[in-house]
Amino acid sequence: MKKDIIIIGGGAAGMMAAYSAALAGGTAVVFEKNEKLGKKLYITGKGRCNFTNAADMQEFMENIPRNPRFLYSAFAAFSNNDMISFLEENGTKTKIERGKRAFPLSDKSSDVIKALNRALQKRGVSVRLNEEVKDLWIEEGAVKGVVKENNEKVSADAVIIATGGLSYPLTGSTGDGYTFSKKAGHSVTPLSTSLVPFDCDGICKEMQGLSLKNVRLSLCSSVNKKPLFSGVGEMSFTHFGVSGPLVLSASSLIKDDFFKEGLFGKIDLKIALSEEDLKERIIRETKSSPKRSIKALLEDLLPRSMVLVFLNLLSIPKERILSELTKEERDELIRLLKAFPFKVYGKRGYNEAVITRGGIKVNEIDPKTMGSKIVRGLFLAGEVIDCDALTGGFNLQIAWSTGFLAGKSAALFCNDI
Ligand SMILES: Cc1cc2nc3c(=O)[nH]c(=O)nc-3n(C[C@H](O)[C@H](O)[C@H](O)COP(=O)(O)OP(=O)(O)OC[C@H]3O[C@@H](n4cnc5c(N)ncnc54)[C@H](O)[C@@H]3O)c2cc1C
Repeated sequence: MKKDIIIIGGGAAGMMAAYSAALAGGTAVVFEKNEKLGKKLYITGKGRCNFTNAADMQEFMENIPRNPRFLYSAFAAFSNNDMISFLEENGTKTKIERGKRAFPLSDKSSDVIKALNRALQKRGVSVRLNEEVKDLWIEEGAVKGVVKENNEKVSADAVIIATGGLSYPLTGSTGDGYTFSKKAGHSVTPLSTSLVPFDCDGICKEMQGLSLKNVRLSLCSSVNKKPLFSGVGEMSFTHFGVSGPLVLSASSLIKDDFFKEGLFGKIDLKIALSEEDLKERIIRETKSSPKRSIKALLEDLLPRSMVLVFLNLLSIPKERILSELTKEERDELIRLLKAFPFKVYGKRGYNEAVITRGGIKVNEIDPKTMGSKIVRGLFLAGEVIDCDALTGGFNLQIAWSTGFLAGKSAALFCNDI
């Protein structure tokens, strides 16, 4: 006899869980509160959907700052290569780009969603759109189904929570799964934003729109100057502070407590040149063109929108010439080039965060099945779990792998009852 498995949430994890449950012989029903499946998937990878990463397992683990070991069994059950094959088998060709990032060949996230929809249809999964789950239905430590609006109860032999986190709430991720699981007896670790830009002091706003490539960003605690992050790459200035790949990585790797205390940032704008190299260059320029303006030298050394900021910080009038540059001013200029300072006031909010940090405690979930250790017949998948990764396709792979394992385990659980 077929047993019903309800999947709450039709995002990346929920769709994969439904497919996997049906593949393993279960009758899967997805409840999705939006008008369509995979609303967030549409906007992933700037509309291109960086759906996984072709890195090996060790590299995968290095890109998951929180609870990577919990995911071993899920990755073994459904790996990055399995996801690539899944898409290809369901009509979506794929490609690997720089940094081993995998995308659909068409560069259209909608093609990933189409492949998932095809797979669900092929496996006879029922999809109930515009249907919001309000609570779990639990009796004597076992899940009996879900509760919908107007207290309508829908029975099931197993339930998978795949409701996502709190980021980009307009896509439907409003944290319902945390509420359901807390009520069911699970613990949820403190939640905050990750892969998110920073609010900074006014100096950053003066350069909004500017992107820097190949710079070193260093961040330390404002309280005790402890170094917290250092990386080379790209970053940009915005109307509120800083953003870009380096900043997103830093937001994921720095502990929340440090953001509460405040951070101090430094940008090395000339990573290929030492302070000594820069000093020699300025002395050489001064000797060969003493009448040249300091502003013209800065225009050679810096992006245009930083020149006036530098002149202001150095209190040097625009018309001053190189021969009038004092030793102190030269040293200060070199210091700014090697360690341009700014203050970080905090991380931006959930409307701008790629992912939620924190979630349902992993030690309350069986890593081999994604089954709850607290409620029988309850399974968990995706961002709702306390696991999150850096950018590069790792977060979606967490959703596919935990979704697949939860779906399969729920079907096996149903066979045994
Ligand atoms: C702008 C942006 C870009 C991103 N780009 C990438 C990328 O390129 N690569 C990558 O790896 N990751 C990316 N991510 C992260 C990735 O989208 C998430 O890791 C992934 O979507 C998590 O999948 P999920 O299924 O757990 O949650 P979600 O995708 O959020 O799905 C949860 C679903 O549950 C539904 N739901 C919630 N509550 C209920 C309820 N009570 N009843 C019924 N339905 C409910 C929601 O409507 C939603 O459809 C990006 C995220 C954002 C915001």
